[in-house]
Amino acid sequence: MNSIAVKAYAKINLGLDVIQKRPDGYHDIKTIMQTVNLYDTVCIKKTKFQSVTVRSNLNYLPTDQRNLAYKAVLLFRELYPFKDGLNIYLNKRIPVSAGLAGGSADAAATLKGLNQLYKTGLSLEELMAIGARLGADVPFCLLMGTALAEGIGERLKPLPPLPDCHILLVKPDISVSTKYVYENLRLNEIVKHPDIESMLDALKEKNLYRLSALIENIMETVTAREYPVIEKIKEKMKENGALSSVMSGSGPTIYGIFDNQLKAETAYNFFKSSQYGKYVILTKPYNINQ
Ligand code: ATP
Repeated sequence: MNSIAVKAYAKINLGLDVIQKRPDGYHDIKTIMQTVNLYDTVCIKKTKFQSVTVRSNLNYLPTDQRNLAYKAVLLFRELYPFKDGLNIYLNKRIPVSAGLAGGSADAAATLKGLNQLYKTGLSLEELMAIGARLGADVPFCLLMGTALAEGIGERLKPLPPLPDCHILLVKPDISVSTKYVYENLRLNEIVKHPDIESMLDALKEKNLYRLSALIENIMETVTAREYPVIEKIKEKMKENGALSSVMSGSGPTIYGIFDNQLKAETAYNFFKSSQYGKYVILTKPYNINQ
């Protein structure tokens, strides 16, 4: 086998709580991660040269060691050396710096692809342990589906799948750095944290309505304060029939959950013809057994 193409799926957070700041500066979180059917394609091709090159369809994406797919190759090659050079091409569809873990998804897909290309035979757990060295979201991007994430996001427990629904993603034209959001979280001032435990019960009951009513993201306390467009999109999402509308990760993408395709498409058309979203994408949950 000389080349391989692997799909790299995006995620949303179905609810996100930050528990505490740890002595090492990281934050302990508790969140339900959900893979969605929106993906980049990572194409890996062996070459006879020794160098690794990364290219993509986006001219603003770094292609050197700052690129997570590049980092994944270097780490994999250090652990399981090979002599070939590699050309990596990233066909990006997941908006960048959006709270959808696009970079982590590419890193996960690269590890998966190299495991197959070099017949390394690593188990999912082994790949996830390698992925954790690249970023907190990489293990989930390997596991996929629906999962509870704790610790800095790397401690994962698979959950029953999200009931069938439609998910509308709207990313406003603002950039929010994850670091800024964490630094500006006022945990001691937050009276009510998202009720992740009840969300877990709702998932077990396969109750989309109960789940939707509970979904909250604590990070909105920072972003909504700074960017009124966040609240505006949430409001418009609900006016257009979303069961709930929440920010994913540290944002700025807002998603809406719909129980009905027609409503989801109407909302999609509304946002497409408005100024609220730079990217507007209608998708569905992606479950591992589908
Ligand atoms: P998360 O939800 O994990 O916080 P995100 O969706 O907010 O991630 P990414 O799209 O992963 O953000 O990009 C965050 C940063 O990572 C950007 O500054 C981007 O330049 C860099 N990056 C490195 N490699 C990639 C990649 N393969 N795809 C996208 N961004 C990448």
